[in-house]
Amino acid sequence: MTTPDALPAKFKPYTRQSIATARQWQWMSPDLQEAVQVVSHVLPFRTNEYVMEQLIDWNRIPDDPIYRLTFPHRDMLPAKEYEQLRDLVLYKKDDAAIAKLVHDIRMRMNPHPAGQMTHNVPRVNDAPLKGLQHKYKETVLFFPSAGQTCHAYCTFCFRWPQFVGMDDMKFDARECTELVAYLATHPDVTDVLITGGDPMIMNTRSLTEFIEPLLAPELAHIQNIRIGTKSVAYWPQRYVSDKDSDDLLRLFEKVVRAGKNLAIMGHYNHAVELRSSIAQQAVKRIVGTGATLRMQGPLIRHINEDPHSWAELWTTGVRLGAIPYYMFVERDTGPREYFSLPLARAHEIFQSAYSMVSGLSRTVRGPSMSAFPGKVVIDGVVTINGEKLFALQFLQARNPAWVRRPFFAKYDPDATWLDHLKPAFGRKKFFFEADADSGDADFHVPAGRVTPIVQAPRDRRASDSQPDAA
Ligand code: SF4
Repeated sequence: MTTPDALPAKFKPYTRQSIATARQWQWMSPDLQEAVQVVSHVLPFRTNEYVMEQLIDWNRIPDDPIYRLTFPHRDMLPAKEYEQLRDLVLYKKDDAAIAKLVHDIRMRMNPHPAGQMTHNVPRVNDAPLKGLQHKYKETVLFFPSAGQTCHAYCTFCFRWPQFVGMDDMKFDARECTELVAYLATHPDVTDVLITGGDPMIMNTRSLTEFIEPLLAPELAHIQNIRIGTKSVAYWPQRYVSDKDSDDLLRLFEKVVRAGKNLAIMGHYNHAVELRSSIAQQAVKRIVGTGATLRMQGPLIRHINEDPHSWAELWTTGVRLGAIPYYMFVERDTGPREYFSLPLARAHEIFQSAYSMVSGLSRTVRGPSMSAFPGKVVIDGVVTINGEKLFALQFLQARNPAWVRRPFFAKYDPDATWLDHLKPAFGRKKFFFEADADSGDADFHVPAGRVTPIVQAPRDRRASDSQPDAA
């Protein structure tokens, strides 16, 4: 690892095409190198010099958590698929056959967890608004096209289709005229989440073009502008030493002066991401503008199963002025068999980390599934009338009436997602499924001429938009 004095000042990404030029490439065994070369045909891979130099402990690879979340691994694919792909990539070198196999594998990985393509996209005059999602009544998500990549890709990312050129799976908008027009006719929307990829990949001038229009008097009902980003962890230079980092902070101040809450939704996965002095400086500079910084991230097998890491992350964040916000359950997309943890285990980890921190860090909520009907948190494991159950509730929902209504599912030690759970007390359906089936539920749907909400197929019913993450 380099010393802090040798921090990379200029952003330098590495991808499959260029990773062999990084000095660390030689530190990876031939097996690890092969896995990166083969699996990255299916799952996107991109990192940068700061992550490589400062965050990965190369003495601990392949078990180092940041190595795991940076590089694709052999066991992210079933053995048979890996062998097939390896044969094509390394020996037959048949581009057409590689493309076909890669496409087939990607399509079985649930590239757009339910609802994003069919349920969340607002339509006006029977045309979908490109680059917008409106799932919850008060919040609109906006995907600027220039922010659809990231400072690095996380191997578990549910946004992976965007990074691999699956164009029909992309949400992006080149400018924000339609967003502003849509918001102007939706006075009940209070929050705009600018997301990606990572909008902070944009330079300050481009970001300004998307943010300033949101300060217009006709959008006085927009109270919160959120920006989802991983840059706080993967490229803190964005707030400290990039050539336009001071301009960026001035933009944040302008938003705050306009009377809005600017919330940076910082995606953190591990305590190591907040140990470097530049990462800590970034937090201080962000909150120094009057913006807030909320910390969120998914719980992922191989990466952050240790509750101590979460406790350290939240505690450090709070000391610097950030607000712990969400621990998510890993989504049902991509190589989820590799990353997912049983809900019961996720609850134990959350509970353990929560018990280690003071009240100021207990703003965090979790473990929460961003599922088709809404954000469902696992409150605990209880026994009622001799039946072992998960106690659950919605923190956010398509139907606002569902929020904070407790409900119960049979305890299942292996369940990893909402659609694996069965209702408790002998019921056939959860209350929200019964509501949806009855057809008179008060679902929030994007206004205008919209695609009606219909039930997604059971195996695609589970997850949806997020984190973000970024
Ligand atoms: S969108 Fe977030 S989770 Fe996905 S690759 Fe980018 S930083 Fe990682």
